[in-house]
Amino acid sequence: MSVLDRLLAALGPDAVTAGPQVPERFCHDWSGEPAVQPLALIRPRTTAEVAIALRVCFETTTPIVPQGGRSGLCGGARPISQGIALSLDRMNRVIAVDRLQSTLTGEAGCVLETAQAAAAGAGLLLGVDLGARGTCTLGGVISTNAGGNQVLRYGMTRDNVLGLEVVLADGTVLPAMNSLLKNNVGIDLKQMFIGSEGCLGVVTQAVFRLHPRPPHNVTAFAGCADTQAMLSLLAHCRAVFGPALTSFEVMWPGFYDLMRAGIGAPHPVQGSHGLYVIIEAGGFDARITDQMEACLADALEAGLVGDATLAHNGREERGLWAVRESVSEYGRILGALTPFDIGLSLDRMEEAVARMEAALRQRWPDVRALFYGHMGDSNLHLVVNVPNVAVQPSKEIKPLIYDLTRELGGTVSAEHGIGTIKRDVIGYSRSDAELAAMRAVKAALDPRGILNPGRSFAP
Ligand SMILES: Cc1cc2nc3c(=O)[nH]c(=O)nc-3n(C[C@H](O)[C@H](O)[C@H](O)COP(=O)(O)OP(=O)(O)OC[C@H]3O[C@@H](n4cnc5c(N)ncnc54)[C@H](O)[C@@H]3O)c2cc1C
Repeated sequence: MSVLDRLLAALGPDAVTAGPQVPERFCHDWSGEPAVQPLALIRPRTTAEVAIALRVCFETTTPIVPQGGRSGLCGGARPISQGIALSLDRMNRVIAVDRLQSTLTGEAGCVLETAQAAAAGAGLLLGVDLGARGTCTLGGVISTNAGGNQVLRYGMTRDNVLGLEVVLADGTVLPAMNSLLKNNVGIDLKQMFIGSEGCLGVVTQAVFRLHPRPPHNVTAFAGCADTQAMLSLLAHCRAVFGPALTSFEVMWPGFYDLMRAGIGAPHPVQGSHGLYVIIEAGGFDARITDQMEACLADALEAGLVGDATLAHNGREERGLWAVRESVSEYGRILGALTPFDIGLSLDRMEEAVARMEAALRQRWPDVRALFYGHMGDSNLHLVVNVPNVAVQPSKEIKPLIYDLTRELGGTVSAEHGIGTIKRDVIGYSRSDAELAAMRAVKAALDPRGILNPGRSFAP
């Protein structure tokens, strides 16, 4: 019997769609890599069905690619032809919110925004937030260890997960649904699955730790003259707000001006500046807005800021974030591009941006190099577009940026992961010994190499 026939016999036609009938949206992710039609798409409704699917794939040594919201930017959720795409989109429930224990239990295919809303409904806060919140799923953010807009305060996804249920390559269900903040019994196995990009197992459920929801939030927008002023402003904000500082997002003018014009957003401050910063703080003291006003007044007086403004309501707050959150408009505004998600220590940031821009401009004088990022987390995003070419010269652009990243002691992936598109530079940021250890874990848990082969560290 063929794999497809075995899957159909085991799961039925409701759960299994053969290749030619697979809807286009399941054939690609947000990386811009070309679509691939899988041998079949499986959309299970339960963990037991996921286990059956994996057992069949294991027995037939058939590659299988788990999919969440397919908002990943590294090609990791893109199917493999002659392989199975396993979408978790029907396992999308919030199972429970426990107010007393401050936890949320959800299925892997639950959209992040749905889980955030359930936590908010209980007066609590889920500490993971990113621009793709309406599309990405709990299983996806766990498998990529996603970062986002509040890492400064709540950490990466890893810091917010207490427990997992995972199905291993051979169909074994690993129930590790811990909900205790402290549980020091043996190896904390869940950490292996968080950030391993679906190469070690399929996440089917998770327990997230929730946080007290700060009743008072304040969002500000400031223009700074240069990187030194911006870094001094960051230090100043950290000193003023301590752990209440939630976001410190920076946009270089190349990004800000082009994207603002592209989406038609108003400019919230007077004049042009060397850098634009969004500062957000959330706390339990109603005077946090006064604190932000005082913080910015001091920064203005010290010359760290040229002009600044505060949001007074939700609409104004969304307005201050509009340009930063416009990245889903790249296709329309910029066209084809080569994106980067690098991490650098803050003291190398200015040099990195200057050298990367110079190297790109020297090769392509009219290049558009847009820099922005989660500066509070040392995470710099860059998107590059070379105008008037039929095909973006990504193969030339990437070595320029990754070689400089390595030279400056940075990482080639701060938050998006490796997927298929950064495999050739994984060794820039991990030693041979680390990679060998990762592959040893992979061989132990997935001896036939069926889960996400050719992605991240998987052979
Ligand atoms: C507009 C936009 C903004 C973004 N902003 C950020 C950001 O600020 N920070 C950030 O970190 N990322 C960001 N991303 C990237 C992306 O949203 C994240 O990587 C997200 O975590 C992916 O979740 P997903 O459910 O879409 O996963 P997918 O794209 O479907 O999958 C991603 C990887 O995880 C694996 N996977 C998915 N589900 C499972 C599962 N249940 N079990 C095992 N493996 C699984 C897949 O095989 C794949 O390798 C952004 C993307 C977009 C489009």
